[in-house]
Amino acid sequence: MNNQKKLDNVSFQPKLGSEFQCVAEKCALSCCVGWNVALDKDTYRQYKKDADLAQKITKKIYGSSRSSQAFGTIKKNARGECSMLTPEGLCSVQKSLGERALSKTCGTFPRVNFHFHNLNIRSFTQECPEVARLTVTSEDAMNLVDRPKAKKDESRQFTFLCGSFSSKEKNLFFALYNFVNTSSLPLWKKIIAARSAISTVNGSAILSEEHLSAMLFEKQLELSSAELDFDPALIQMESLVPLIIERSLLNDTNIPLTLLEINGMTDEETGSNNDISEKQLLELFIKKRGLLFRPSKLNKDWVWTNLFLSHFLTIVDDFNSRHALLALDFLVLQQALLKFIYICTLTPHKMDDPNYLGLVSAVVARKTKACRPTFKRTLEDLRSKHGNESAIVPLLMA
Ligand code: SF4
Repeated sequence: MNNQKKLDNVSFQPKLGSEFQCVAEKCALSCCVGWNVALDKDTYRQYKKDADLAQKITKKIYGSSRSSQAFGTIKKNARGECSMLTPEGLCSVQKSLGERALSKTCGTFPRVNFHFHNLNIRSFTQECPEVARLTVTSEDAMNLVDRPKAKKDESRQFTFLCGSFSSKEKNLFFALYNFVNTSSLPLWKKIIAARSAISTVNGSAILSEEHLSAMLFEKQLELSSAELDFDPALIQMESLVPLIIERSLLNDTNIPLTLLEINGMTDEETGSNNDISEKQLLELFIKKRGLLFRPSKLNKDWVWTNLFLSHFLTIVDDFNSRHALLALDFLVLQQALLKFIYICTLTPHKMDDPNYLGLVSAVVARKTKACRPTFKRTLEDLRSKHGNESAIVPLLMA
């Protein structure tokens, strides 16, 4: 994107969007399990008219008060699955009434739609393992392309209405997106450059996208030869192990341990499945870290860059506020957590498997969805111990 005109009144999505197709019953972490699906008033009434579907919905609402948007919910069965799932793993709503009758929640996922007055962006959440698999399968998966016009039979979708995207912040967002996508620096150095650009823009007047790109290019040259003079694993272990263990971020629902089980690890190696200790997790990380230095299809910087960009696109609205830097740091922490857990659960035969990395990515994305307060405390701890966060935060990804 080289000029401002191109950024006005257009709709973008990542390239993987045109390839995405739900894999339904073949999905390793289906979105039809565990979640409450809210129904708006019209959808609730539509389902009520169908004798079979009517038995599978309720007027109960979880976590919010009843409104026309949250008018009812789909019931779950004893295994926590959506009661609309047929024994073959298909959706009864789609089968009986067609795709257009899907609830807005189901019709939207895994898309995340942002509507600014001067820009539309559709991103795809890593909470879906198929999206995550596509993200790490092709190098150009996160290139931004024009979003196709909605088809007639397309299901209804939620859209975040975000007002106008101020040109300063919009220029910053796209300059950073393009920089991270195309620069040959390792990801942690790109984060140093990105933090520096955000800090400059926060304190100054309007800067064009070209100006910002030039600034980032200059920073790239400066960082090209910069080396680490200590092992970043120390910072990673210090910040991430407590996040995983003490704050029960992932442990409470057994997630990394379930993945360890999938990998065929024994109780002897992991401890009780409910109760891995800090020491065991540290030992596992140290033992497995060497796998990342082995050549593999997925052991590439673009893989981690694509995962980062995928999350970056879902925080585009944070760039239209004063919280861009904090939002970026949350992403860094989330991705560091993903890499840490991926390493701990990695075995040589999983190293080339995009399905596996996609699954771990989806698990971590789901479990860290509402973690901003916890992440904020972790960043504060990091700052109080090491002072200069602009140098320390990017090292979580090194
Ligand atoms: S998580 Fe993704 S692939 Fe899996 S069932 Fe849901 S939309 Fe389909």
